[in-house]
Amino acid sequence: AIEVSGLNKYYGTFHALRDVDFSVAEGERVVICGPSGSGKSTLIRCLNRLEVHDAGTIRVRGIELGDNLRNLDEVRREAGMVFQHFNLFPHLTVLENCALPQILSRRTARAEAEARGRDFLERVQILDQADKYPGQLSGGQQQRVAIARALCMRPKVMLFDEPTSALDPEMIREVLDTMVTLAQEGMTMVVVTHEMGFARQVADRVVYMEAGEIVETAAPATFFDSPQDDRSRRFLSKLV
Ligand code: ATP
Ligand code: MG
Repeated sequence: AIEVSGLNKYYGTFHALRDVDFSVAEGERVVICGPSGSGKSTLIRCLNRLEVHDAGTIRVRGIELGDNLRNLDEVRREAGMVFQHFNLFPHLTVLENCALPQILSRRTARAEAEARGRDFLERVQILDQADKYPGQLSGGQQQRVAIARALCMRPKVMLFDEPTSALDPEMIREVLDTMVTLAQEGMTMVVVTHEMGFARQVADRVVYMEAGEIVETAAPATFFDSPQDDRSRRFLSKLV
């Protein structure tokens, strides 16, 4: 579903991604972890060109990300994104948050967009909040709305950048449960997270990054129980 090769990214003179090779198969779940500043967000944001890379190639479902704007449009249709800080439209109700993107960028008729919005709000178990504004919801509820909104666009891949790290502990579970369900339904997912329980439960592979490089890629059982690289070992020993 995603193929990245030789990816390099600079912020000015700072080398944020160094020769990153990364791939995600259709239906696969990949968790990316690593210390703060290691380039996790930069990598995941390059996947739908919220950041522009300097060298290397990125293909999402066969579509190459580059200067071609039509390709960019297609990739953004294929890949939904959920951020740490929900990024909902504060002046729109929950239902409008789900409906409007479909109406604007997919030209879906309003009635159909709202019906689909209700459908996905139901799936993330928050349909009863449909007429509220984001500011009236808890963080966990807002994040589930953000997931529903992304799913309304019928993405084939979902990208998550620390979806639970801005949440109070009691709300983390409800968001993770939503993501586990999504994984069980077969969604292709790339998830940057510090939730190692989630990684163990859901990931097919764990990717460990440090200083702009992918240091280790392994199945969760291998990664957590017998990490191969000293740097991953050190990172994991600090978590417990
Ligand atoms: P965290 O766990 O804190 O979210 P991260 O692994 O997601 O960290 P990135 O946000 O990808 O890290 O940042 C990687 C490096 O690039 C960091 O050193 C950061 O300071 C730098 N960086 C990120 N965005 C920018 C930017 N817009 N301009 C300059 N430097 C940036
Ligand atoms: Mg980050």
